[in-house]
Amino acid sequence: MVVFFQGCNMNCPSCHNPQTIGHCNHCLECVPHCPNGALQDASVNGKRRLAHNAGQCQRCESCLPHCRRDGSPYARRYDVETLFNTIREHAMLLDGITFSGGEATLQHRFITALQSRLKSDAETAYLNLLIDSNGLLDSPHWPPLLASSDGVMLDIKAMGAERHKALTGRDNSKVLASAQLLAEAGKLVEVRFLVIEGQNDMADELDGLAAFLSGLPNPPVLKLNGFRHHGVRPSAQAWPQTSEACMERVAAHFTGLGLKVLINSAP
Ligand code: SF4
Ligand code: SF4
Repeated sequence: MVVFFQGCNMNCPSCHNPQTIGHCNHCLECVPHCPNGALQDASVNGKRRLAHNAGQCQRCESCLPHCRRDGSPYARRYDVETLFNTIREHAMLLDGITFSGGEATLQHRFITALQSRLKSDAETAYLNLLIDSNGLLDSPHWPPLLASSDGVMLDIKAMGAERHKALTGRDNSKVLASAQLLAEAGKLVEVRFLVIEGQNDMADELDGLAAFLSGLPNPPVLKLNGFRHHGVRPSAQAWPQTSEACMERVAAHFTGLGLKVLINSAP
């Protein structure tokens, strides 16, 4: 099971699900764009309120391009106990839970409480609990979050500070600090690198990432993803989709530098 958390503190042109970046402010602009009548104006006493009817929603995504806040009209609010009960109901069919997003760690207190609840209940204690993160969480927040977690899958978008900023809108110093902390805690199960031809596949980038990962205790597997156009912002539509040849070249470069590499996807 994957739990997608709404809201992200990066702003990547290459994001495949930008509708998870922002939060709905109930502007109601998406209401007329639902062909299935799943969105309604539920305002009360002049207070604007969007209502989403999950039973009528076909997940056609027609509404998403009309949200100027990069929000999602079908994001829902949960308290820990309600989400715990939902997971427990399906537990017998599951191997584990991945907390993804958006950026899941923006809601680290919620995840800490939920993980603790899951690990302390006999019906859910066996579930493998992983967090998918961009690494921007401040160091002091990691230890409580890791207490009941089985590990973290971390994205590193670029090693060069300026390239990282261009690809995410944020500096990468916290990302690298998180990688170091997680590796030292034995919780860094995977690093992901989205290969974008012409943006972060140059030799100095690859050498820098390889040197950094090789310096970590128990260097993790490096998973390579190929950039694709689905869902991305207009500025990233101008970038070519990553070719198979590029993926193989990048993988060979890392392998030659001693890293364990897994190619996850290519267009
Ligand atoms: S995803 Fe759901 S709410 Fe959005 S337009 Fe489609 S049916 Fe309507
Ligand atoms: S999902 Fe976006 S467009 Fe729809 S009400 Fe919320 S902020 Fe407005």
